Amino acid sequence: MTAQLNPRGHVAVLVPAAGAGVRLGPGAPKALRPLAGEPLLVHAVRRIAAAASVHTIVVAAPAAEVDAVRDLLTPVAPVTVVPGGAERQASVAAALAAVPAGPEIILVHDAARALTPPELVESVAAAVRSGHDAVIPVLPVVDTIKEVGPGEVVLGTVDRSALRAVQTPQGFRRAVLTAAHEAAGDPLTDDAGLVEKQGVPVVCVPGSEHALKVTRPFDLALAEHLLAGGA
Ligand code: C5P
Repeated sequence: MTAQLNPRGHVAVLVPAAGAGVRLGPGAPKALRPLAGEPLLVHAVRRIAAAASVHTIVVAAPAAEVDAVRDLLTPVAPVTVVPGGAERQASVAAALAAVPAGPEIILVHDAARALTPPELVESVAAAVRSGHDAVIPVLPVVDTIKEVGPGEVVLGTVDRSALRAVQTPQGFRRAVLTAAHEAAGDPLTDDAGLVEKQGVPVVCVPGSEHALKVTRPFDLALAEHLLAGGA
């Protein structure tokens, strides 16, 4: 059954899904790789559509797959599908340009974080709604982190207590994200980084273990296990 989005919602979610996913090994674009029989992107969009504030979903698909992705997602939720770009940042910019007038909160969410719970979408949106211009979900860093130099020689140990691992969805006031993309220079791997360059404060909220990014074969196996457990 196709999910209904909230016509009175004020949140648009951009889903960059145009990456090749070479770290997963050879095969289809990453967002279209199967997880328990369905593409990662389908899992991701189903959970976004289940978040009550979401008004609009825009997916940036690999250019050659735009029609196929639209056909794939039509039974899941009403989505707009646009061709992505060579870098993640270009894919996000293409999706942002397709957001209609209305939503004043924009979330940017990787298709690869396929099991992200709707509750995390809502908590990021709520933090923007409460007055923050930019919000990122984070987890504490559990491993000891070393800085290394040439020859894999350790240069020093980083203070882990000041570090956070950053997830998506990242949330922004619309005008803030638009300005950051208009001013963007070299491509970055996350949108909060662009906003930081504009001098806008970025606030952290608790992330979710279920929002893991499926990047390597081990992550796929872990995600299948989580799904089997009801994630
Ligand atoms: O490569 P990485 O894991 O950082 O990709 C994060 C997300 O950005 C994935 O969902 C991927 O499909 C997307 N992406 C994109 N366009 C690109 C590269 C990555 O939409 N050119």
